[in-house]
Amino acid sequence: MIGRLLRRTAGTAIVAATAIGQRRVPFLPRKQLDAIRDRRIRRIVSYAARTVPYYKDLFTRERIDVREIRGATELDKLPVLDRDHVRSEPMLFVARTRAGRTGIPFLTSGSTGTPIGIRHDKRSLLANIAYGEREREPVNKVCGGAFRPKEMYVGYDTSTFKKVIEFYEEHTALPVKPRRRFVSLLEPLDSIAAIVNEEQPDVIVGYGGWVDLFFRSVEARGLEIAMPRMVMYMGEEMPRGGRDYIEQHYGIPVLSRYNAVESFKIGFFCEERSGFHIHEDLCHVRIRTTDGRQANPGESGEVIISNLVNYASVLLNYPIGDVAAATSELCACGRTFSRLSELEGRVEDVLALPDGRFLHPRAIWQVFKDIPGVLQYQLTQHGGGRYQLTIVTVDEQLFRSALDQALPELRRLLGSENIEARWSREIDRSGHGKFRTVVRAKSL
Ligand SMILES: [Zn+2]
Repeated sequence: MIGRLLRRTAGTAIVAATAIGQRRVPFLPRKQLDAIRDRRIRRIVSYAARTVPYYKDLFTRERIDVREIRGATELDKLPVLDRDHVRSEPMLFVARTRAGRTGIPFLTSGSTGTPIGIRHDKRSLLANIAYGEREREPVNKVCGGAFRPKEMYVGYDTSTFKKVIEFYEEHTALPVKPRRRFVSLLEPLDSIAAIVNEEQPDVIVGYGGWVDLFFRSVEARGLEIAMPRMVMYMGEEMPRGGRDYIEQHYGIPVLSRYNAVESFKIGFFCEERSGFHIHEDLCHVRIRTTDGRQANPGESGEVIISNLVNYASVLLNYPIGDVAAATSELCACGRTFSRLSELEGRVEDVLALPDGRFLHPRAIWQVFKDIPGVLQYQLTQHGGGRYQLTIVTVDEQLFRSALDQALPELRRLLGSENIEARWSREIDRSGHGKFRTVVRAKSL
């Protein structure tokens, strides 16, 4: 009992101390922000070189003097990690320190292959609550004022989610608890609509693909729901056109957050909703083109992250698997945090066709975007030019006509006659992974 009380007091103190000034950080002058970021980079690089097996070995082998890494410019020159290496030998990246040993283990969602084990040190988990202040500000603004918005969180009741909640309950005694109701996204859409009416949340929070399907289905099924003031999506990108649809059709602003098990805070939408503001002092982000160079502003490429605040699993120059573009234009909100476009998909979403061509998911989207009644679709590539297609429509008749329109073009694009189609009213999400419109079967 005493132990728990002490733990909670200590934890709360860390949160409170970190919270000071958090709201101002995204607005700090550029120079000051760079200085904070580079200081954190120097600190974690020197820590990694001393205590993390992978980096100890790398720095010795490559004869890199850690003192030469002064900040982001030099960090970017370190080799990019191999995700499979992190997946197969996670302990190589865990610091041989107390922070590493007592770190809390999490697993990535593993939508493509085996999940990756990542530890977060306890202090960084606590500080993460305080960093949340930065992201709450635009939400409060969009929700119109200084009250605590009531959230409805539709998601997986995953171990990560539960673990974070348990950890916070064990380690903090926060005076202000978020007003949040959790609903499993495995519930049918009609039941969730009923819960929305019962709860009347200010904010609906969910995965991108789910949010898109939910609001499209509300219209298509003629459901009446108590409209929230704001919609927030995260965990996966929203299918193309989804955000515009909700904002224009329902007049509700849609915000997003970019977070991952590998780095809890990467970026967030401000009230201008013009891409993610990057938490530059917590997670250094750069974009790499397919041929390995630094992408120009506006040019799409692979997102490479360095988590600057986690002292358990240390990941520097880690390809997180998302595709996005950076922008150099300043945002109208006045925040100095640099910006990233909305996520454009996953690196592995590009299909390699048996005839040697590559097909971007955007080409598939082009096929479906103007077909009436299509609420969502999913194309899965199996070996030997075989495909499975799921189309979500309100009824089977709409499915038939959508399929008649889509099939000839899909056959041409994929160069295959072997497309097995099925109708669905909702996408099956029981696999607990991220939803993607185009999927390569795991056996490929
Ligand atoms: Zn902004």
